[in-house]
Amino acid sequence: MSIAENLGRVREQIENAAQRAGRPSSEITLVAVSKTFPVQAILEAYEVGARDIGENRVEEASEKIPAVNAALEKGKIRWHLIGHLQRRKARGAVTLFDIVQSVDTLRLAETMNRAAAEHKKQIPILLQVNVGNDPNKFGFDLNARAAFLQDVAKIVPLANLQIQGLMTIGPLVAGAEQARPFFRELRKLRDELAQKFPKANWRELSMGMTDDYAVAIEEGATIVRIGRAIFGQRS
Ligand SMILES: *Cc1c(COP(=O)(O)O)cnc(C)c1O
Repeated sequence: MSIAENLGRVREQIENAAQRAGRPSSEITLVAVSKTFPVQAILEAYEVGARDIGENRVEEASEKIPAVNAALEKGKIRWHLIGHLQRRKARGAVTLFDIVQSVDTLRLAETMNRAAAEHKKQIPILLQVNVGNDPNKFGFDLNARAAFLQDVAKIVPLANLQIQGLMTIGPLVAGAEQARPFFRELRKLRDELAQKFPKANWRELSMGMTDDYAVAIEEGATIVRIGRAIFGQRS
């Protein structure tokens, strides 16, 4: 299957899931996750309408993003950082990406805020939450809920970061249906944060990947991050 055919099929499934949930599919952003795939694959996806592209590593992105942007008119793709970001790479991330979905500590947020200020930039972010408290995953720890809320209270006022919502990576489960409670919990947490911190914008819920995006949409996802179903298996 070609990237064009794959994208067509994914869009159809997004449409179906949105309909089941009684939601307009226009409120769901499809991020095509191109990690490990070459610039040519990204250009192919762009040709058939992909405008939001996700990468998970700053090093890899620092080669691919300039190459893709040079082949297009500037500013046509919105680049999402979706992978764990080390603080020493915050500067690179802030200059390369349009949105960082993987802000997972207060210290990282503070470092990014300084880097963004130096570049006179405002950077949209999502807070990554470890909903299942999986020790192998990054993200704010919800077991330490009071500490999380204290961190959020300090991130909200950072002038060069713009919170837009939450991101999570679903658990590794046998069937997508088993991921549903985790997505539901992220949505509940978002609603709670919107109450507690009304000055910030909590619109986005980034949840759902190749194996579970339909369920995530049924539970309110506004951003799905899809790699394999579009670009194929990663080697
Ligand atoms: C790789 C990745 C994705 C896409 O995963 P697929 O299973 O290929 O759809 C989504 N989110 C994050 C954070 C990733 O690292």
